[in-house]
Amino acid sequence: MSTVSACLTCGACCATYRVSFYWGEATGAPAGFVPSELTENFHPHLLCMQGTNQASPRCVALEGTIGKQVGCSIYSNRPSPCREFVAGDEAANPFCDKARAKHGLPPLIPVKEVA
Ligand code: SF4
Ligand code: SF4
Repeated sequence: MSTVSACLTCGACCATYRVSFYWGEATGAPAGFVPSELTENFHPHLLCMQGTNQASPRCVALEGTIGKQVGCSIYSNRPSPCREFVAGDEAANPFCDKARAKHGLPPLIPVKEVA
């Protein structure tokens, strides 16, 4: 989930992809910030957000109803993949489009194309 407002009525990416990241980002590591209790082991050097490594993913930190109103309960401490994922109205992102389509939502139009 990106920082732009479109995400607040979406949340599709948080319920589509496995969100994995280096274990050092979690609080079990000295400089970690992602709450370890919301993560699970995925690979010797990687963790993932609980709920995202399953057939029908939904991150345990995602609150609300997809396509209506959502929030990330650990927004300021979310892992790097969530920070780097760009919403489709910020810049073209086929992965945003794909996640939204999976949840019955139309693709977003990058702001630059609207102007
Ligand atoms: S799928 Fe795109 S618009 Fe929806 S929450 Fe993720 S980044 Fe935001
Ligand atoms: S940590 Fe937050 S932004 Fe990242 S997938 Fe989970 S709910 Fe979405």
